Amino acid sequence: MHGEVVRAVKESKRSKRSRFLRDAMVDVQIAGRGIRSRRVLLAMRQVPREVFLGRRFAEAAYEDSAVPIPKGQTISQPYIVARMLEAAAIAKSERVLEIGAGSGYLAALAAKLGREVCALERHEALVERARSRLRHLGCRNVDVRHGDGTAGWPEGGQFDVILVSAAGAETPAVLKTQLTLLGRLVIPIGDPNGVQWLTKLTREPDGSFIEERIEEVRFVPLISG
Ligand code: SAH
Repeated sequence: MHGEVVRAVKESKRSKRSRFLRDAMVDVQIAGRGIRSRRVLLAMRQVPREVFLGRRFAEAAYEDSAVPIPKGQTISQPYIVARMLEAAAIAKSERVLEIGAGSGYLAALAAKLGREVCALERHEALVERARSRLRHLGCRNVDVRHGDGTAGWPEGGQFDVILVSAAGAETPAVLKTQLTLLGRLVIPIGDPNGVQWLTKLTREPDGSFIEERIEEVRFVPLISG
């Protein structure tokens, strides 16, 4: 009994500290840099980033940087995640496809904003981990699948939003066909091992695409196959 009480007190202190750090992250790094979307800010206040990091890096969860995850990959800097989500403007009724689920953090946020999320990841070990973390958080509208996202997910039909969390020299053409009319695709485009531009493509009612550059970024490479 005593042990349980001690554990409960420790857990409550941990979650208070986590909430405090998360609020500070949103106020300083996200809202403080001009992200205005109230829904994005709220989602980022709600999803604990430390859950998506291993024990070794949990302390770095609210730092203003990308953080390593297994398989030589990284969980993106919180501000860049916010930029992607704000650019994507996910409505409550919308379906989202993510390429490069990694830790599952971005997928968890997208799931708070939209109706359902399908997230593809090429490293099987990351898939298992992301799934169990999302389950632990009670996040039921995300489906993490193992596979090469450069082919998109044709069985999934068309998506209102496609978020690509890894950088390519160009947008894989097949992803454009999996976007609904008025859909938004957000992807870092440029030198996969150097600097890229976070780019937003919007599919117009006539099927053509409008392209906007959002911000210079550095993502891990999008690898096909
Ligand atoms: N959004 C993630 C960021 C992960 S880093 C997060 O919040 O943690 C990008 C991920 O893209 C890596 O895990 C990498 O393995 C994955 N990736 C790279 N190329 C891919 C491809 N063709 N298909 C699926 N995943 C890919």
